[in-house]
Amino acid sequence: MSKVFEFDHAVVGAGIVGSWTALQLVRLGKKVILLEQFPDLHTRGSSHGHSRIIRSSYDDACFARLMPDALHMWSEAEVETGVHMMKTTGLLCLANSDFGVDLVEKSVENMKKYCPVGLDTDVDRISGIMEGVVKYDNLRAAMLDTTGGVLFAHKCVKTIQTLFKERGGELWDMSPVSCLDPDDEGVYVHLDADRVVHAQSVVVCAGAWTKKLLQPFVTLPAQAQVVRVYYFKEKKLGAYSAENGFPTLLEVGKTDIYALPSLEYPGLVKVCLHGGVPCDPDARDQTPQKPEFDALIRSYVAEHFPLLETEPAIVETCMYTTTPDEKFIVDFVPQHKNIVIGTGFSGTGFKTAPVIGRLLSQLATGSEPFLDISAFRLSRFEK
Ligand SMILES: Cc1cc2nc3c(=O)[nH]c(=O)nc-3n(C[C@H](O)[C@H](O)[C@H](O)COP(=O)(O)OP(=O)(O)OC[C@H]3O[C@@H](n4cnc5c(N)ncnc54)[C@H](O)[C@@H]3O)c2cc1C
Repeated sequence: MSKVFEFDHAVVGAGIVGSWTALQLVRLGKKVILLEQFPDLHTRGSSHGHSRIIRSSYDDACFARLMPDALHMWSEAEVETGVHMMKTTGLLCLANSDFGVDLVEKSVENMKKYCPVGLDTDVDRISGIMEGVVKYDNLRAAMLDTTGGVLFAHKCVKTIQTLFKERGGELWDMSPVSCLDPDDEGVYVHLDADRVVHAQSVVVCAGAWTKKLLQPFVTLPAQAQVVRVYYFKEKKLGAYSAENGFPTLLEVGKTDIYALPSLEYPGLVKVCLHGGVPCDPDARDQTPQKPEFDALIRSYVAEHFPLLETEPAIVETCMYTTTPDEKFIVDFVPQHKNIVIGTGFSGTGFKTAPVIGRLLSQLATGSEPFLDISAFRLSRFEK
């Protein structure tokens, strides 16, 4: 017979979104359990590794409007813990094609609206940053988002979980949730033969696995993708370091490509394509790769980064959980308001996790979300 453990709220998935959600719930004075299927701080989901971009500039206002609060919450957590979780480097947003121009222009408009102090369009300053290190022969538009930079991903997850536990939250790793059983009083969260958690509500932040866990209730339009992460060696050590003024860089267009300064593996610059190959999250390493992605990124580096080697020194993998419109899913399961969903972060959900965590904690406790979440509701897919 299983033992039933009582909590106010349960959160499934100890990635960055689940960790922030659990923290926001304990901050409300709730008794919270954070459940993780794998050993804590593993590398099989979406939040591992050392870096993620943080930026205010987005061509889509549904993300741009989240960023003032997100930046503030990350900074507050840094002050509270004394842990340095991000490095501000500035983010250079470029268009090297006609298609990208519109996206840069929309990003500028959103910066003016949501983060005017972070907008810099000074042509000389931008040229100075690019000089000698990157080469774009068809540069059509550019802007600098001075709030942009890098979040130290692994350190972020660890720090937010530490805050959660210090406030009395419980984290059980090696605890896969097998199924959810809602009733009028709450939800039974089944783990194994010995353990069941009962809570008033459960927030499912299970990343690429969310679709499988919620399949008995709803078919989520969210596709797991395996994504390759490339690191290229500097020919001249420090040429692309943040200390020498190299920013985070994002070329927007039909395909987005981004680069981070060399500040994680010494002398290596992360250059990646925003996108991946559909996969089963339980068989990610068996997914056949697309060699054309590797070729594209190598030729991109050869064309635009004159001071980088063109063969990657390190290739890692990670997962996206992507929706058809690449917007998040933040909502309830239809018919079950005590099961809350946070998924579909489509390769851009790390930086916004503090805000999404607060919104999910509000849905879990039956409060009004502090920001409009209509862009993230499931009902948009019914139209
Ligand atoms: C290569 C790459 C680059 C990216 N770059 C950026 C960037 O620059 N900026 C940015 O903002 N975002 C970026 N992202 C996106 C960002 O990392 C993700 O959106 C974010 O990490 C998603 O976090 P999550 O908590 O939803 O998912 P995850 O981190 O995957 O967490 C979900 C957790 O749930 C657990 N779980 C699943 N099923 C169960 C179960 N049944 N029981 C218990 N636990 C379960 C999993 O093991 C996992 O630990 C990038 C992503 C990738 C892959």
